[in-house]
Amino acid sequence: MDVYVRGGDSIWYFSQLFKIPLQLINDSNRNINPQILSIGQLIQIPGYVVTNYQIRPGDSIWSIAQNRNLPLDAILLVNPGLSTNRLQIGQTISVPLRVTWRLVNGKQNYDYDTMRNDIRRLQTVYPFLQVSSIGKTVLDREIPEVLIGNGDKRVHFNGSFHANEWITTPITMTFLNDYLLSLTNQNTIRGIETSPLYTQTTLSIVPMVNPDGVNLVINGPPANEPWSSRVIEWNNGSSDFSGWKANIRGVDLNDQFPAKWDLERARNPKTPGPRDYGGESPLSEPEAIAMADLTRRRDFARVLAFHTQGEVIYWGFEDLEPPETEVLAMEFSRVSGYEPIQTIESYAGYKDWFIQDWRRPGFTIELGTGTNPLPLTQFDEIYEESLGIFLSALYL
Ligand SMILES: [Zn+2]
Repeated sequence: MDVYVRGGDSIWYFSQLFKIPLQLINDSNRNINPQILSIGQLIQIPGYVVTNYQIRPGDSIWSIAQNRNLPLDAILLVNPGLSTNRLQIGQTISVPLRVTWRLVNGKQNYDYDTMRNDIRRLQTVYPFLQVSSIGKTVLDREIPEVLIGNGDKRVHFNGSFHANEWITTPITMTFLNDYLLSLTNQNTIRGIETSPLYTQTTLSIVPMVNPDGVNLVINGPPANEPWSSRVIEWNNGSSDFSGWKANIRGVDLNDQFPAKWDLERARNPKTPGPRDYGGESPLSEPEAIAMADLTRRRDFARVLAFHTQGEVIYWGFEDLEPPETEVLAMEFSRVSGYEPIQTIESYAGYKDWFIQDWRRPGFTIELGTGTNPLPLTQFDEIYEESLGIFLSALYL
């Protein structure tokens, strides 16, 4: 919601008036100096939208404010120049409305455009989010990253490395939305205060690492050649892509990282296909390169890669993980009911590479059980299981 500064207004005053933490308003207006406001300047207030209200007989500004549990000045602020003692019946005024509902609807076929639209809507209501592109896919789609928080502890979540595990995208987007709701409305989540998380951590989320693959699974092959023919050929002639994990070039992005890549290559297919082909060399695919570049740039303290399925938490790689990794894995297990597993015979994954190169905690978390793509009927259950993991990844 936008407001225009009047004489005597300050960010502190807006924070009191709208009951929104000062830090969130400051971070929603990064391009201005909060100490020097000028009259007429536009300030964004997070966690509110403006609605229209048509004046009815008997209304006054006072009664409208009171009915909405708003201070009178909150209404005056969004109606500059309104003469309050001359309201006309039928006249439309603006009324601020605190956002207490989710903007993200995770229970739908959550393709790339759905995610993009949801990120845009979240960014409008919560301008303290920082959204940028980490790179482009083979089909030229921007891969968005969302940053939230101010802290030194940098935590990273990602979803949909694997195309037919796309439910991990709406799960992480829903967590993002609930975190935002909790911050602006100052509610706890599972008894946990989130404002300290905001000041102590910076959370990086890449909700969809593999947009081309996700859209292939949800919407079918792209219209343009050569891709539309190629993917059907690589899918053994089938137009059912429910088993597809790879990117649009038939490369499994979670077999692309330089962490014993040769060993993974040796036991996997040597040609493009729905899954497990690691490419001709590590980091050959733009989506994997974008993730590697991001990880090098951000200096994450820990990373969590969300996959489906199995209800397990993989937390080790070649005994290179630091001791605190096990503590985290046990807590993730406790809050989710998932089984912690240190290692399996698997290499070249994102978390493997992170553990190997940084010697910091990295996790692959397999949400839910069943056959991929997991049905949306499991959404609520999976969200309940993963919510504790999201939170403890930030507070521990
Ligand atoms: Zn996976």
